Amino acid sequence: MRVLLLNPPGERVYIRDYFCSKTTKSNYLFHPIDLIVLSGTVAARHQVSVLDCMAERLTPRQAEERINAFRPDAIVSLVGSVSWFEDRAFLARQAALGRRIAALGDVLQEDSDKRLEQEPWLEAALHVFSNDDVLHWLDGRLDRIQEATVRPPRGRPQRVRVRVRQKGTYRVPRPRHELFPEKGYRFSFARSPRFATLLSDYGCPFRCSFCVIGTLGFQTRPIADVLEEVDHLRARGITELFIQDQTFGVVPARGLELCAALAERGDLSFTCFTRPDTADDALFAALARAGCHTVMMGVESADEKILRRYRKVYTPGTVRAGFERARQHGLRRVGTFVLGLPEETEQSLRATLDLALDLDLDFMSLNVAVPRFGTPFRKRAVELGLCDPADLVMDQGGERAFLPTRTLGREQVVELKREMIRRFYLRPSYLARRVTSARSLWELRSQAREGLALLRRNA
Ligand code: SF4
Repeated sequence: MRVLLLNPPGERVYIRDYFCSKTTKSNYLFHPIDLIVLSGTVAARHQVSVLDCMAERLTPRQAEERINAFRPDAIVSLVGSVSWFEDRAFLARQAALGRRIAALGDVLQEDSDKRLEQEPWLEAALHVFSNDDVLHWLDGRLDRIQEATVRPPRGRPQRVRVRVRQKGTYRVPRPRHELFPEKGYRFSFARSPRFATLLSDYGCPFRCSFCVIGTLGFQTRPIADVLEEVDHLRARGITELFIQDQTFGVVPARGLELCAALAERGDLSFTCFTRPDTADDALFAALARAGCHTVMMGVESADEKILRRYRKVYTPGTVRAGFERARQHGLRRVGTFVLGLPEETEQSLRATLDLALDLDLDFMSLNVAVPRFGTPFRKRAVELGLCDPADLVMDQGGERAFLPTRTLGREQVVELKREMIRRFYLRPSYLARRVTSARSLWELRSQAREGLALLRRNA
């Protein structure tokens, strides 16, 4: 079959991946990891083309021309709550041309059977991208599906869930990075313009209650498969990586083994996520030897009660110690934060900024809380009357707050967030550090572009 993997066009730059969606917070756009992984699975059996309309900045009309030229039998498309009305209109037009459509994205993670009933153009919703469900759907073997929402030949759409949480190991054929556009992706922490995004595991073993990835289970790939993918990228001259595992090294022996194998290659340079409570000195040292230059770790909030309520399982003290360990190993540190949870107050936000300044971060990434589909937090936000379950459109990019807190209105949350960004990024000592730490003119320019885009959006 001719199968198109599609990131649809949109009015703005949307990041739709890993069952989340948002507008870009500054200027970045990395590869949609779901389509990267699916590219290997589908290409092993079918003729595949990839069209990433976000990377190529295609209008709907240009996208339609490109799709018509490929004449796909089936389209596997990303969708996002951030762009749901645009996505459904675009894909319905493709279905009207006789193309089978399966989609995956945050908006389909909850009540997906109802969604399929409301959207006759949509034949299936995939809820996992690391298994063979996409192939079973293409083959019409719905009896083999593990976790997807499908339309059986008779009866109403139904969500199939053979395994509640994915566990153990998984294998996927080598992702076909070469099918993705060469240009159009930008990553704030990359040290060179050509980079690749990859996964060595799937999901996350933690259960932070505002996060959808903690609902996906946790599986690891054999290290040999990961290295095959890395070596294929190296053979194409790509040595800058964004390893999108949500907690790199969460299985310590595996993390160290993977780092040792990456270090042996000697030419890699990468960014990854880890957690300040799980990453010990041995892991940070191994990461630095392997070529890691930047680690992203969740801080979330300085308020211990908020951390406890949302099951972060660590305290601000643990966070401080973890960031200090990373600093001692020479790694750049990105702190990620979630602002505007119902218990947030002006005082807790100011304490969080103080913590961000104390941690001596290289970058601060602020996310405004949204009730992501399929999370325990969404259930609670509905119960508290903070959000309407029928409202499917939301943006996690943080230009607007989706929820008020118990003491702050949406505007106040956004205004405080803007103030935090200005106070953090406009410190003269911080700006001097960015300029002096850039390794190349390209990196300096890229960071300046990112910084200006971030400040423009938070002026
Ligand atoms: S550790 Fe990170 S990815 Fe895992 S559940 Fe918590 S917030 Fe989500």
